Amino acid sequence: MITAQEIAPGSLSNSLTVFDHFEFDDHEDVVFVRDKVTGLTAIIAVHDTTLGPALGGCRIWPYQTTADALTDALRLSRGMTYKNALAGLDLGGGKAVIIADPCKDKTPELMEAFGAHVERLAGTYITAEDVGVSPQDMEAVALQTNHVRGTKASGLGDPSPFTALGVFSGLQAAANHVYGTHDLTGKRVSVQGLGHVGFDLCRHLHDAGAQLIVADIHAPAVARAVETFGAEAVDANSAHKVEADIFAPCALGGILNGRTIPQISAKIIAGAANNQLHRPADGLALNKRGILYAPDYAINAGGVISIALAIPGGGAQKVKEKTLTIGDTLARIFQKSAAQGATPEQIADQLAEERLVRSFHDKQAVDSS
Ligand code: NAD
Repeated sequence: MITAQEIAPGSLSNSLTVFDHFEFDDHEDVVFVRDKVTGLTAIIAVHDTTLGPALGGCRIWPYQTTADALTDALRLSRGMTYKNALAGLDLGGGKAVIIADPCKDKTPELMEAFGAHVERLAGTYITAEDVGVSPQDMEAVALQTNHVRGTKASGLGDPSPFTALGVFSGLQAAANHVYGTHDLTGKRVSVQGLGHVGFDLCRHLHDAGAQLIVADIHAPAVARAVETFGAEAVDANSAHKVEADIFAPCALGGILNGRTIPQISAKIIAGAANNQLHRPADGLALNKRGILYAPDYAINAGGVISIALAIPGGGAQKVKEKTLTIGDTLARIFQKSAAQGATPEQIADQLAEERLVRSFHDKQAVDSS
């Protein structure tokens, strides 16, 4: 048993165990991993396996404290349960965090040691890439376990094109809800962040006839979008406040906050970035302003769908079809949100929880028959 004093000075100061952590949500397993030979220090959190094995990426980050790493593992694994449930995948939610600097500490041996610990969990947890982890790292993990996705043998490679496709389909659903048509011809869309997902999203939007406004802190990415799509460039700090019909955050989290929300002119927010709302109250503030927000974990699920459903040698068609259902899911969320007077993210949580409860009861019924 790890005590509060050992793992979380500050965040657990009034409690004794992980079970009292403010992010603990009846997680099924929280495994603290240490490998003396390679120096691996990691936490693997399995939140919920009601729908199937817990799938979620492995993040490598130089956390300041073990408490920060634990907070991330607990929070992100729970997020994966909701994301996988809402995406209609037969998978639970989990996450691994390795406490290390990906630029300095990462070695193939460290990744192999992590793989050996994933193997010990016997398929309860399936790992994949996340921040600080490359496809090569996953190949090292795969030397020790088959419970890994995103490797050459198991996957379709980079999930970003599917994330972008899913965002595009969700963005069309949002346009239909607000403007009564999926047609984006002439709609002004401000895309913040022109990385793997943002640039590909621009391509879909350009093909659909949208007028693009683009921003990135990396000047060459902006120049490329201007040249390729005839986009209008704006300062990275202005992407949310330019005159636009739709704002698509595809850079960092926390972009929707007390400072930015009053400045937004778009009627729709639909983008790939994770954790776009700084706080839950910011979702209410958007709702109050009449801005339709596509919940991030619902609209950006294309990547996890591609990781989950790819099969050795491909499976792209099936992945594409499933990714395009993101638009249908969002249409349902928007309708329910309007009907119930709740925010879209509240409805997304509700739908994910309903699926979990249904599956739990179905299993109970089978077990008792
Ligand atoms: P990326 O690192 O390839 O691109 C991010 C881009 O944002 C970079 O070009 C960067 O320069 C830019 N950027 C950073 N700070 C910025 C700022 N303040 N203003 C404007 N631009 C800024 O990342 P990505 O894979 O394209 O992912 C984008 C977002 O989508 C992230 O939040 C990520 O967590 C989320 N997401 C990605 C996937 C995926 O499949 N890649 C899946 C789900 C969610």
